[in-house]
Amino acid sequence: MQTPKNLHNLDIKAFAKAQTHLTGDTPVAAFERLAADCSGELTGHVSWVAQGAIDPEQRGKEDVWLHLEAKATVPLTCQRCLHPVPVALLIEQDFRFVADEATALAQDDASDEDLLVLEDSFDLMALIEDELLMGLPLVPMHEACLSERAPTSEEEEAILAEVKPNPFAVLASLKTGRH
Ligand SMILES: [Zn+2]
Repeated sequence: MQTPKNLHNLDIKAFAKAQTHLTGDTPVAAFERLAADCSGELTGHVSWVAQGAIDPEQRGKEDVWLHLEAKATVPLTCQRCLHPVPVALLIEQDFRFVADEATALAQDDASDEDLLVLEDSFDLMALIEDELLMGLPLVPMHEACLSERAPTSEEEEAILAEVKPNPFAVLASLKTGRH
């Protein structure tokens, strides 16, 4: 496995040309932005696979491709009980590198893969972290807490019946008041 320094500073074109296959097991704590969203003890790892490839067929020139997979279970804060809840994240994404931002914008809608701008130095760890952050649930919650969250329609009716007096009962009490 390469040192973390290299993983933050890759020549992605050479990486793709050599069809490099890299795997790693990086502590969640090493991803600072991801760690900031976690609660409790950060003991887990992010397991990841990166595969480079060159596609000479498309558009008559060599396209630089990266296939990325990553998985991790991270402790987030349950938005109901505020205790840590383990959330499994799974990333599987293809990336194609293009010359500049304008090309990326122009081709983005027509592409299944994500487009990145080709630069001399590529930060693989930052991309893995970006993808994991995008995969985080907006409202993390325990399954049990989630099912407690919304009352069923029967429970709702019971609550409403307690709050709202029955109109016939009101009418009856008015009649009693007159006589
Ligand atoms: Zn909870």
